[in-house]
Amino acid sequence: MSRAIGIDLGTTFSAIAVLNEFGKAEIIPNAEGERVTPSVAYFGDDDSVVVGTVAKNSAVSDPYNVVEFIKRQMGNADYVFTHGDAEYGPEQISALILKKLKQDAERLLGEAVNDAVITVPAYFDDARRRATINAGKIAGLNVLRIINEPTAAALAYGLTNASEQRIMVYDLGGGTFDVTVMDVARGEITVVATDGDHMLGGNDFDDQIMLYVNDAFKREHGVDLLREVEVQQDLRQRAEAAKKTLSSRPSAKISMSASGRRLTVELTREQFEQMTGHLLERTKMLVESVMSEAKTGWGQVDTVLLVGGSTRMPMVPQMIERMSGRAPSRAINPDEAVAMGAAVQAGILMAQKGDAAILATAEGRRLANTRVTDVTSHAFGIVLMDDRTKTEYNQVMIAKNTPIPHEVHDHFYTISNNQERVRFVVLQGQDRDPANCNTIGETELEFDRPKPRGYPVRVTYQYDANMVMHCYMEDEKTGRIAELHISQSGRMSDREVEAKKRLMDRVKVD
Ligand code: AMP
Repeated sequence: MSRAIGIDLGTTFSAIAVLNEFGKAEIIPNAEGERVTPSVAYFGDDDSVVVGTVAKNSAVSDPYNVVEFIKRQMGNADYVFTHGDAEYGPEQISALILKKLKQDAERLLGEAVNDAVITVPAYFDDARRRATINAGKIAGLNVLRIINEPTAAALAYGLTNASEQRIMVYDLGGGTFDVTVMDVARGEITVVATDGDHMLGGNDFDDQIMLYVNDAFKREHGVDLLREVEVQQDLRQRAEAAKKTLSSRPSAKISMSASGRRLTVELTREQFEQMTGHLLERTKMLVESVMSEAKTGWGQVDTVLLVGGSTRMPMVPQMIERMSGRAPSRAINPDEAVAMGAAVQAGILMAQKGDAAILATAEGRRLANTRVTDVTSHAFGIVLMDDRTKTEYNQVMIAKNTPIPHEVHDHFYTISNNQERVRFVVLQGQDRDPANCNTIGETELEFDRPKPRGYPVRVTYQYDANMVMHCYMEDEKTGRIAELHISQSGRMSDREVEAKKRLMDRVKVD
């Protein structure tokens, strides 16, 4: 059996890890010798694609052929990147990044790599999770499991820590924010509650610096730096560099040239913290909301783990310390923990399948007995008709933060005589008003013949270990079944995935 890898498919950076011969997770450096790979793809003239640092550096000189932050588009059916005659959806762009990671792992390990565990933000919804699984398949990977990034971080941490603990994972990456409360004990990880914002990350902090420098440039020279894509990209890279400098120094200088004009702007950490305070405040509100969902006070939280490169900004640990009264843990590397945890999860799955190489190590045998219990990050409901008011409402079938995998059954009844069919609409969200929820699928169950009022249908909601929903509606008397018709665009059938894989097989990735 070849080795299974763990992949952190990040918004700005991705990383790969594998269990070594002692059953310990190790980062696999990429072909360039780096421990993390920028999640950036550069489309060259000759149908080849470069992924990584070279691609990131091309963002300034050739921005129209560079794709960044594709993770933010996962599950978005309207997104396409056009290059020449070809069009690429978010799954295909992500597949290119995964292909590069797979190739680099194969080069270093000297063997074919097929099986992988890929991480996603805990707050990723159904469409985004499916899109990630499809990206893996298009890249030629057998996706063993999709796991939540904070769970992966805890796996990287939990198994090296003997005592029983309730921990909070505060994960602020390049493009997403997640906060999760979980219980960690030797051999067992149980997620209690999770929440997040998939549109909040380090990138938004860069935006604030960009706006600040642009205002200064406009005032001084009357030139708008955001008008031209090349200049904007240049400004973004300088803003990000300044932000990183401010994590270790009290001030940073940003020099910009455009339209023959030049300006150097100085920014202090204090100013930066002021201009981004509202972003940090958004994370604080989500932390408080998760604490209340987990019915937890700070006194019960033993450790706060910081994950994601953006937690290097000093204001993050300072805020956590103000909130919790204790400094957060620095026990794990925020850039590498997620990939390492994914490798541990891959090891757990392979050990449970009886993989001889993993079971040959003491650590591997221990993994075989490790249990990870995650929870749903969203509620799932069904649209029902209120018989009295004749209005539709959302009846929650699976509540938010329910341990998974999970399966529920319920019976519902026809509301009029001679009903020939029932409409079956599956929602994501917990609001009673369906208009405030996302419809994730919809279908109809047709009866063999008209039914009287009060005729029962049985509804099943299954939430699998990859956190993907399967829903069925059944007429138990006749055995007729209506499976959820996935109406949300952006979801691919197996045939489409296979067709996209064949197309992408022809693209050379470096
Ligand atoms: P991740 O997606 O977890 O790799 O996080 C990447 C994000 O972390 C990017 O927005 C980076 O700009 C940010 N980041 C990395 N290092 C630092 C640092 N020293 N200070 C502030 N932000 C950082």
